[in-house]
Amino acid sequence: MKAVSSRQIDQLPGRRLQPDDTFTFRCHADIACFNRCCRNLNLFLYPYDVLRLTRHLGMTADRFIEEYADIVLRPEQFFPELVLRMAADAEHTCPFLTAGGCAVYRHRPDTCRTFPVEQGALFHPETGRAEPVFFFRPPDFCEGRHEPTTWTVPAWTRDQDAETYHRMSRRWAEIRHLFQADPWGAEGPEGARARMAFMAAYNMDRFRAFIFESSFFKRYRVKAALKKKLRTSDEALLQFGFEWIRLFVWQMPSRSIRPRR
Ligand code: SF4
Ligand code: SF4
Repeated sequence: MKAVSSRQIDQLPGRRLQPDDTFTFRCHADIACFNRCCRNLNLFLYPYDVLRLTRHLGMTADRFIEEYADIVLRPEQFFPELVLRMAADAEHTCPFLTAGGCAVYRHRPDTCRTFPVEQGALFHPETGRAEPVFFFRPPDFCEGRHEPTTWTVPAWTRDQDAETYHRMSRRWAEIRHLFQADPWGAEGPEGARARMAFMAAYNMDRFRAFIFESSFFKRYRVKAALKKKLRTSDEALLQFGFEWIRLFVWQMPSRSIRPRR
């Protein structure tokens, strides 16, 4: 999800969509461009994408990353990102594309979900919170935009079962925004603290083992009900991981994790 500043918002490509604005679109298996958009992509995977895909594929995060993702540290960024690795064929096809469509459709990444509507995060400096902004941006070859079905962004988001994805991507965008300044110092973005943050974002099996099998709960107070939930709910664990990153990296107070004195 792209961070958007209020200065650049009107210059961005695509048509900005307010909640009541409409657009026409329909994608289906008989359309001439079917599957054409699943090729040659720079497709970023956010923590909730990785969680859903690993659970669906029955893979550990370690194996998923090895098999399907590249870890990329962009210039001027202080935290690595995951990018879905396209196949080494001539068209750089998405590894999940089959003749019948997307093999992970119910668990496809957030970026794919509401395509060709793109979500951006407009940051409010006073609160550090991200406000969602949406753009209709079909590529030229996308025939779906000529179909007569009319949508608003909220209706399209519901239809594509994207509400949780969008919410989790926004929470993650707020953390990524904090990483625009270097929190690591001499240790650098590959040191032990950065590896801890990476685990809390992308590797729920390891993160669960870390909090339950280390002295974590001796050092931090967590309500019993939440502790119980963290054993079984991956989604709760990921949100807890986001809070932990804020606390661990920037010492930002957390309502769920209180250091014991
Ligand atoms: S994950 Fe599915 S929808 Fe997304 S690019 Fe790959 S095949 Fe297409
Ligand atoms: S290019 Fe547009 S209409 Fe064609 S398959 Fe992709 S989203 Fe659907």
